[in-house]
Amino acid sequence: MLEIKNLHARTADTEILKGINLRIAAGEVHAIMGPNGSGKSTLAHVIAGRDDYEVIEGEITFEGKDLLGMEIEERAGEGVFMAYQYPVEIPGVSNKYFLRTAMNSVREHRGQPPIKRPEFLELLKENLSRLGMDKAMMDRSVNEGFSGGEKKRNEILQMAMLQPKLAVLDETDSGLDIDALKIVADGVNALRSPERATIVVTHYQRLLDYIVPDRVHVLSGGKIVRSGDKSLALELEQNGYGFLQELAAT
Ligand code: ADP
Ligand code: MG
Ligand code: MG
Repeated sequence: MLEIKNLHARTADTEILKGINLRIAAGEVHAIMGPNGSGKSTLAHVIAGRDDYEVIEGEITFEGKDLLGMEIEERAGEGVFMAYQYPVEIPGVSNKYFLRTAMNSVREHRGQPPIKRPEFLELLKENLSRLGMDKAMMDRSVNEGFSGGEKKRNEILQMAMLQPKLAVLDETDSGLDIDALKIVADGVNALRSPERATIVVTHYQRLLDYIVPDRVHVLSGGKIVRSGDKSLALELEQNGYGFLQELAAT
């Protein structure tokens, strides 16, 4: 479903990603782990299409299409969704309006008509109740004045409403409390399906107690230095990232 080949990316002055190779099949959940500053968020942003980074080499294909050649909105239209570590606030735009607009933009891209109001409201009601969110939040500006946990829930609500084909969640070092962790985990687990793939970026193993990944990759210095199954995450929890120094020394 997603294939990344020899991806190199940089900001204005530094190369951050130095040759990433990654293949994710439909139905799989992959975790990206690694120490602070290893490039995890950068990788997530480059997949989603944030233009703060310049790709200098390599390719990303999604369902056989060249993702790097697409603008961020086109990627969303193809079914790529990114949940940010720090969700943005959008003053003056109600949550409800934002969600419906985002859904309709994806539908338009797929040649589908806009969602009808009753259908939208029904779907919203269903998801709000599943996530334990107050309906009143839908008339407030997107994320404005929301607590950390509320923002997290709101990201998961967006994901549940949009039903992306590829979900990228950046949870790095955000010190989520246990409730927020469970919200994220339930949201991801609810979306698990043979047609969907998920990338969960996390600094800590804790989240993976709730979301059991098919593969775990360790990023260090902009490269994937180890990949394994879920036991790799447990090993990292016990032994930390110390092995990276040993790797670097050899
Ligand atoms: P991680 O998410 O693994 O903690 P990041 O991808 O956020 O790592 O950052 C990797 C490295 O790139 C860090 O050294 C960081 O300071 C740098 N970096 C990330 N984004 C930018 C940016 N927009 N401008 C300059 N440096 C950046
Ligand atoms: Mg970081
Ligand atoms: Mg990060």
